[in-house]
Amino acid sequence: MKCMTWRGNNNFSLDEIDIPKIRPGMCLVKIHTAGICGTDIHITQGLFPSPENVILGHEFSGTVVEVSQNVDKSLLGKDIAAHTVGGCGKCESCKRWTKAHCEVNRRRIGGFSQYVLLYEQALSIIPSNLSLENASLTEPASASLSCVEMLKPPPSNNTAVVVGNGLLGLFTIYFLKQIGIEKIISSEIDNQRRNLSKQFGADILVNPIEENLTEIVSSETNGYGADIVVEAVGNPKVLEGCFPLIRPRGQMLLVGVNPKGSKLPFDLYEMHRNEISVFGAFGQGNSFERALNHLPNMPLTNIISGRYPLEQLPKIIQKSANLEGIKFVIGPND
Ligand SMILES: [Zn+2]
Ligand SMILES: [Zn+2]
Repeated sequence: MKCMTWRGNNNFSLDEIDIPKIRPGMCLVKIHTAGICGTDIHITQGLFPSPENVILGHEFSGTVVEVSQNVDKSLLGKDIAAHTVGGCGKCESCKRWTKAHCEVNRRRIGGFSQYVLLYEQALSIIPSNLSLENASLTEPASASLSCVEMLKPPPSNNTAVVVGNGLLGLFTIYFLKQIGIEKIISSEIDNQRRNLSKQFGADILVNPIEENLTEIVSSETNGYGADIVVEAVGNPKVLEGCFPLIRPRGQMLLVGVNPKGSKLPFDLYEMHRNEISVFGAFGQGNSFERALNHLPNMPLTNIISGRYPLEQLPKIIQKSANLEGIKFVIGPND
């Protein structure tokens, strides 16, 4: 089979290797679609830790082509979306935190390849009204859903600000509306992304280069600040600008992946005095299946900006790094 191996920095090699041999408790999946994520870009830029010489790609869908002896045979031939962990459901971390923190089943990626071996628990059968291509969006959707589910907004008269309208920002806007946030202010410098935020439920669209976001948030909240502020860029400088937007006892959600080693870029005295809660928000938690069932109802028009063969992955990662499009996907078996 063909796979694209990451060799450090911007280097990849297109390799021909054996299809993985089936192992107990696992299923072989033929990959239909694998999305390119901001995290893949950060890995090639050295901003997100990853071992070298691995096959990247953690947002994918495909078809089960082989199952091991002890796995439910009815999975054979099913179209699935893949959870990167697929928690065992039995260990302390699965039971007490979330399945994404499983101690037994290790995180498995490898979407930029024709086939991948996955734990049975990592597979969710896609609903009949969802395409295999859109099902590859389940991983980012579940990350947004799981993050939003950590929040405790006031039941009414509430406001949220979402800074950054890449895919995670857009999905977060959608799920904030689902949990009953009445007024959502989106802030994004790119016109295409900002306009898409409306389709996901944003009420007020701000271009922070041309407008003063802090003043707009203040006037939209009677001078108090927003109940919830989401940073969906992953940039300490942007995060610093988010802090003044929060009301006392407000909540800040860090959906964007900041570079490893970066520190909280705001006044910790003010954080203490204003009793601000900060939520780190990385993964799918226990929300993968629910996110998958939301996807058929989500406004996904114009979200997938292009589909490319495996050979073009290095070029398309560069294209994504230049913030062209919203989500580029790879079809390794096209
Ligand atoms: Zn991702
Ligand atoms: Zn577990």
